Amino acid sequence: GVMSLALTGCAGDRTGGSAGGGDGGGDEAGGIVGVAMPTQQSERWIADGDNVKSQLEELGYDVDLQFANDDIPTQVSQIENMISSGAEALIIASIDGTTLTDVLQQAADAGIPVIAYDRLINGSPNVDYYTTFDNFQVGVQQATSLLIGMGVFDESGARTDAAGPFNVELFAGSPDDNNAGFFFNGAMSIIQPLIDDGTLVVPSGQVDFEQVAILRWLPETAQERMENILTIIGDTQIDGVLSPYDGLSIGIISALTSGGYSTDALPVITGQDAEVGSMKSIIAGEQYSTIFKDTRLLAEQAVAMVDALLSGEEPEVNDTETYDNGEKVVPSFLLESTIVTVDNYEEVLFDSGYYTAEDLA
Ligand code: BGC
Repeated sequence: GVMSLALTGCAGDRTGGSAGGGDGGGDEAGGIVGVAMPTQQSERWIADGDNVKSQLEELGYDVDLQFANDDIPTQVSQIENMISSGAEALIIASIDGTTLTDVLQQAADAGIPVIAYDRLINGSPNVDYYTTFDNFQVGVQQATSLLIGMGVFDESGARTDAAGPFNVELFAGSPDDNNAGFFFNGAMSIIQPLIDDGTLVVPSGQVDFEQVAILRWLPETAQERMENILTIIGDTQIDGVLSPYDGLSIGIISALTSGGYSTDALPVITGQDAEVGSMKSIIAGEQYSTIFKDTRLLAEQAVAMVDALLSGEEPEVNDTETYDNGEKVVPSFLLESTIVTVDNYEEVLFDSGYYTAEDLA
């Protein structure tokens, strides 16, 4: 429980040696924090890793940051190494949310608290806290922007009198990532009623999560699936594609352009993460929208949780109901995300300092 955990952290031998960088605020910190990230194939995880590392170092912690190249055994052994080399806390963005049970037992046996980062870790009682974005709401935003882009909703999200039917195809993320189901369910909470009333049609007929999920979030798998759909549906024009991640959107756009769509007449295509390649695509009028999740703020939450635990305090949470990992409901701190299109990207991304204009030039 929270209390015993806090006590464990308190009893730790924090010697105050701030070997890693400047001391942020008079707090005596120190000790090693292990940070396990899934992959460097996507910019967002590189940014997450950098942000968590630098913020921990500012508080005086040493950081062991590892990326696992989306390979599960690699991630497990990286975490084992963190435990055996004396990490005092772990921050983990898992690849497959169900494969860390044994290694988290080792962490628990060593009294090391674990924060699940962005993705819930399932099937283990040894996940102490979780910080993420409101993942259901991310899916709601994806579907909402898809419908705004097609003119089914107006800018305020209200139903217009556009009758349709509009042809849409659906994609979901990796089935082993707990977030993927949340994104899809959030999106379908908006989309399903419009399928039911005939406003939206899915020409391929593929509407179940299992049919539309893309293992490991691989762009090339999304591209292949989109190519297959084009083969199945022949001349039927697609008006919109629900894509849950920018990398998939890029694969989907490749399939569409090789399948005969011109870049200025693509369907409305959504995304997630505001990655540079997709922001350029949005500015060029190809991808329609993305969902911006400020990884700086997520890093801040994770770092605050670790710092609280290692100082014998209770981390702040704002959700104690949603994230049941099969063993426990993990106390969570959820952040908000933002729909980004060509209309607001400068305000959202430049004014916040997330990107400069040159980054997207
Ligand atoms: C993250 C998304 C990301 C996806 C693919 C999810 O767990 O929440 O932000 O697009 O993984 O990396």
